[in-house]
Amino acid sequence: MAQIAALQIPVSQLRGVGHRRAAVLGEVGISTLQDLLYYLPRRYLDRSLIVPIAQVPPGQEVTLIGKVRQKRFIPGARPRFVLIVEDGSEEIACVWFQGARYLQRHFDEGDVLALSGRVEHFQGRLQITHPECEFVAGTGEPELLHTGGIVPLYTTSADMKDKGLRSRGFRRLVHTAIEEFVPQVQDPLPAELRQRLGLCGLAESLRQIHFPRSWEEVALARRRLAFDECFALQLRLAHLRQARRRAGVARPLARSQRLVPALLASLPFALTGAQQRVLGEIAADLEQPVRMSRLLQGDVGSGKTLVALAAMLQAAEAGCQAALMAPTEILAEQHAATLRALAEPLGIRVELLVGGLPAARRRQALAAIASGEASIVVGTHALIQDEVAFAALGLAVIDEQHRFGVAQREELQGKGPGVHLLVMTATPIPRTLALALYGDLESSVIDELPPGRKPVRTALRGAERRPQILAFAAAQIREGRQVYVVYPLVEESEKLAIKSASEGLAELKEGPLGGVALGLLHGQLPAEEKNRVARAFKVGEIQALACTTVVEVGVDVPNATVMIVEHAERFGLAQLHQLRGRVGRGAAQSYCILIAGSQAAQETERLKVLCQTQDGFEIARRDLELRGPGEVLGLRQAGLSELLVADLARDEGLLMAAREEAFRLVEAR
Ligand code: ADP
Ligand code: MG
Repeated sequence: MAQIAALQIPVSQLRGVGHRRAAVLGEVGISTLQDLLYYLPRRYLDRSLIVPIAQVPPGQEVTLIGKVRQKRFIPGARPRFVLIVEDGSEEIACVWFQGARYLQRHFDEGDVLALSGRVEHFQGRLQITHPECEFVAGTGEPELLHTGGIVPLYTTSADMKDKGLRSRGFRRLVHTAIEEFVPQVQDPLPAELRQRLGLCGLAESLRQIHFPRSWEEVALARRRLAFDECFALQLRLAHLRQARRRAGVARPLARSQRLVPALLASLPFALTGAQQRVLGEIAADLEQPVRMSRLLQGDVGSGKTLVALAAMLQAAEAGCQAALMAPTEILAEQHAATLRALAEPLGIRVELLVGGLPAARRRQALAAIASGEASIVVGTHALIQDEVAFAALGLAVIDEQHRFGVAQREELQGKGPGVHLLVMTATPIPRTLALALYGDLESSVIDELPPGRKPVRTALRGAERRPQILAFAAAQIREGRQVYVVYPLVEESEKLAIKSASEGLAELKEGPLGGVALGLLHGQLPAEEKNRVARAFKVGEIQALACTTVVEVGVDVPNATVMIVEHAERFGLAQLHQLRGRVGRGAAQSYCILIAGSQAAQETERLKVLCQTQDGFEIARRDLELRGPGEVLGLRQAGLSELLVADLARDEGLLMAAREEAFRLVEAR
């Protein structure tokens, strides 16, 4: 977020904020007035929709406002915490089973609360279980807050409560700040642009996001503030791209006349239309004297490897080397094998460089890379070590790029002057997210699968069905197929009884899969053991593999037809989609069975998305909606944490507009 000059004033200068309050605010990240004003309401209470307790329709979601008359902790086998709340018309019991002990400290008699939930009749009185709860006012406050229709509610911590900064106090503070300082705020957006895009002024928006007079004002204020965030983000990306272009002189790699046509002629199939298009985009970039920086997205199995190979052959034919970096040794080895089979008949040497190589082979590999004999080099992080020197690197390709940081991407690119960069991902990301994260890159999308792929039959089952599921897997193995059983990672601190792959393996030995050749693969195994197991599975010596998500990326065993995922609720949708992509790679019908450890409706709904579609982009879009961007990618991405208001699932139009404006502005200079 850009800094607003008039708001760079410490909160301690605000009336009513002393040292202690300032310290408490500091703990939630508020040190300046700008921080305070961008501490946005978590939600709003529409007081026009509030019903008196006596008139509550049973069974419906409602919001009530009442005062705490009594609080009680009831110990026992199922300890619970009960608040009796009254509003002058009637009283109601609020009951919590979870966190009962902790909640005791949280409420006091006399607190005025807004409660949302479903009201039931229980033992002759009204009750609401685990209501959503907000403090509206504190002890001794006679009147329910500001009387306007829409009241902002803020996330407040226990410390804030102690210092009188629970909703009402906090609201007052925000109000003071707005009255005194917001009129001085200069709008950084030119009036012309605001008018063209229908955006409110900044000062007006800051006021309205906190104290709206209507829902329409909330929406307008939100839109303006969200635009600012998108705009700042896209400006940064536009600068990045421009800087790279200006500095990015590259060796132009002429279009392949010989190697790529020979590769395509050697394939038993034709490229899909999407592969051809994308290949054209990449080939055209490589011909330029400017470094390419291109993101290649394509669903699992869409054939990205071939596209990458064609690009690498273009580099080779132009007299340069190309490097492909993959996140795991298993994947790197597999790529090396695939690329060797296709490139070596064309007279192109492919070298593998991974951490686990014996010393002698490693020396050979390094020598071939340094002399330029190896035109294509495939490897892991080992590729970016200092001792790896390329004779003439022209193209760097990064597979499964979300597994790498930007720094690693740049280190590989830095292994030569003016190296072109192609980053690939099989974790489709919705367009908005791609633009937010990789908006500085050009983008190519393979949005078509090779013909004849059979959809993987996908089912969601409860844990009680495990015996039948394993019996089904055993039957598939008797038909000569192979099976994956994936377990979630176990975090040390976790008390929940979640099976790890090794425990899972022990259990598999007792069940219907007891008689088959079982293997174990997880990230903690030594590299050699991992490779041994992966190879044994690949050649069919292992029939069922108990594993963690190490198999998520790229592992290619076409004979595997069953993917069982334990505790599927612990995985993101995109990740499950990747796991499912490990089967359905051969001609036979394949199956993906998600075993849910939780029956929560929300989880079930989320997992059902996978049963409904095989389209990775659609799945990613739903995942973004349901879980937000950090979770979709399985990591906190720098830059996205700045998006406080903008919602990438909803604000596509706004993001596109911000992007257009930002890029136009930067490129005009
Ligand atoms: P991903 O995009 O997931 O990396 P791969 O490149 O591993 O996919 O390709 C998956 C499989 O599809 C490979 O066995 C590959 O040989 C095959 N393939 C790639 N392109 C085509 C095509 N146009 N027609 C048929 N099969 C193809
Ligand atoms: Mg791949």
